[in-house]
Amino acid sequence: MDEKAVGFTLEMPKVGIIRGVKAKDIEMVGGKVVNLRTCARPYENIYTVTQLRAIQGVSKKYGSGKVHLSPRHNMEIPEIKNKHIDEALRDLYVAGLFPGGAGTSVRNVFTCPDWCARSVRPVQAIGKMVSTNFGDRDMPNKFTISFAGCPNGCSRPHNTDVGIIAVAKVTIADQGCPDGCRECAKVCPVQAVGPTEGRVKINRPACIACGRCVKACPEKILRSEETGFKVLIGGKEGATVAFGAVIAEFAKDFELLEIIESVLRKYEQKVTPRLAGRKKKERMSEVIERLGIAAFLAD
Ligand code: SF4
Ligand code: SF4
Ligand code: SF4
Repeated sequence: MDEKAVGFTLEMPKVGIIRGVKAKDIEMVGGKVVNLRTCARPYENIYTVTQLRAIQGVSKKYGSGKVHLSPRHNMEIPEIKNKHIDEALRDLYVAGLFPGGAGTSVRNVFTCPDWCARSVRPVQAIGKMVSTNFGDRDMPNKFTISFAGCPNGCSRPHNTDVGIIAVAKVTIADQGCPDGCRECAKVCPVQAVGPTEGRVKINRPACIACGRCVKACPEKILRSEETGFKVLIGGKEGATVAFGAVIAEFAKDFELLEIIESVLRKYEQKVTPRLAGRKKKERMSEVIERLGIAAFLAD
């Protein structure tokens, strides 16, 4: 592909962009049309109205008027005429959109919306920081990272290479409960909290740290002054499904980058081809299944 369009030089980050343009981010369909996958960089799950208009414009002008939102929140514009690909890329680029989100690399970091009422804490800013540090990094196979704002896990953190779930540390004030109040018990999704003889108790092993009881308590007896992240690794979706193993119960923000960097390195060091002599390498879940989680995490 000619990197120059009329009056415009296509200057894009190297990793996963120019290298990947033809190979993965732009899927050739029969030589005449292409499917173009696009997203913001660093990866974002939020598109501005201006960006959506640019996507609409490209789809209507050069494609078939259709847009597909991928499971990891990339926008796929199908059936763009091959001869218009440079103009399409230019129109997207000026709106802050790049081809991307495919291939053997760290994919779009998937985060919950911060405005969800169930959110334990915002996750978009930290998701963007993780994306800035690791997004597009070349990996032995596809690598996914998801942030959930609470243990509900709408961003599917349990089936992701690295799944990160915001959790609340709930404390109990030294105070009795008013007669008849059961607000905390009503909202707890796992029946782990409620008053007994005028005092609230939490069944800690059963508690999933969602913080809903804190929001419901009218007396502020239940409190959450600290939030952190549960971290799971080795989950996946696809032809086979794997659930991640918990490697941290309450990581702080600054620890996340270190944990992710360490997991990426261990995967790179310990991966092998799926079949001897074949090029295709294992997903991280396969490496963990082969070695066991303890050996995977060992130095
Ligand atoms: S995981 Fe929690 S915070 Fe995120 S969208 Fe679902 S309910 Fe909302
Ligand atoms: S934090 Fe969530 S799971 Fe734990 S006791 Fe409160 S409502 Fe129940
Ligand atoms: S902890 Fe709060 S919500 Fe639960 S019973 Fe006591 S006062 Fe009510």
